[in-house]
Amino acid sequence: MKIETVFIDEALPKTYEIDYLISKVKSDPQKIKSIKTVYDFINECDDPISKAKQTLYITENKGAVIRECPGTSFYTCCDYTILHTGTFCNMDCSYCILQAYFHPPVLQYFAGLNTIAQSLKKIFNQQKLFRIGTGEYTDSLIWEKISLLPKFLVETFAKQNNCVLELKTKTINIESLLPIDHNGKTILSWSLNTPGIINSQERGTASLRARLDAAKRAEEKGFRLAFHFDPLIIYPGCENQYKKVIKLIFQHVRKESIVWISIGSFRFMPKLKQIIENRFKNSTICYGEFILGLDNKMRYFKPLRIKLYKEIISCIKEYAPDLFVYFCMEDEEVWKKCMGFFPNEEGELGHLLDRSAAKLCGLNPNLL
Ligand code: SF4
Repeated sequence: MKIETVFIDEALPKTYEIDYLISKVKSDPQKIKSIKTVYDFINECDDPISKAKQTLYITENKGAVIRECPGTSFYTCCDYTILHTGTFCNMDCSYCILQAYFHPPVLQYFAGLNTIAQSLKKIFNQQKLFRIGTGEYTDSLIWEKISLLPKFLVETFAKQNNCVLELKTKTINIESLLPIDHNGKTILSWSLNTPGIINSQERGTASLRARLDAAKRAEEKGFRLAFHFDPLIIYPGCENQYKKVIKLIFQHVRKESIVWISIGSFRFMPKLKQIIENRFKNSTICYGEFILGLDNKMRYFKPLRIKLYKEIISCIKEYAPDLFVYFCMEDEEVWKKCMGFFPNEEGELGHLLDRSAAKLCGLNPNLL
């Protein structure tokens, strides 16, 4: 969705970073004292979520720039580190948890490349490996079209050896990143789904072919890649559709360029269901065999998840037997039945992912 209105925190200093952003969004920002003005502006509308997608608030990050991924204590967590550079998204997926996560959601850009650099410096000095991503509370690359942030991050990560940056997206916004000497420290990753799901549930995102073409272009420039099948959505014939997507991945890029593939199935907080019903009238994704999980989210009935996972994993393994495939938020039974093992020790899944990143991205192996 196009950004129609821009607000800016009046306390922000004038910098090249902000001037650049404003020149790209082509809208005169309204200076405001408090985010409450943005909340009021958004909440006045019949559909605050859609309004929020067209309303940018440029501010500074008043909380922690670097955070542990919240994960959950009930399902295996991958020990990811979040670089908190912004919130929300101007694409519009029916299942997007961010619609229900913020009250109301606000598309925020946290200005301050220096602040980010200072925070990263502390991480870069540690004798430990980190996998760091910006795609937890926003899409990492919606910002590439309008800000200097993604380019700055790729350049910054290129200068160290203990961290890998993962930029996760459903866009094809990689143009400014391709010429950078990234030193292998950035993984460009795409969330994938079947064309049917992309067309019906992911408004404003790039097509499957476009995402894979972008991955191919990134690979040609030496970037490492990752793919995320999350959320898998169960519908008649979905198994064959997901297998076709997997085939397309390996027709576009070499298996040696892929650091990992994650899989996870559709899950939702009960309040998201109401949002989907209101905003995506034709969507049927909430109607199926769901049960309430330990984390209070609705999930597909376990045998259905296991059946689809097994098909997808064996298909990936046919093309790339050694590729590291992992679950996002699954339990011991699912891991054992589908993968044949369970990373039960604390930090074990994280360690496996670190190993894959160290090998493919040239991180310091002594820190494993
Ligand atoms: S691309 Fe990601 S962040 Fe953006 S609307 Fe879709 S699920 Fe949400």
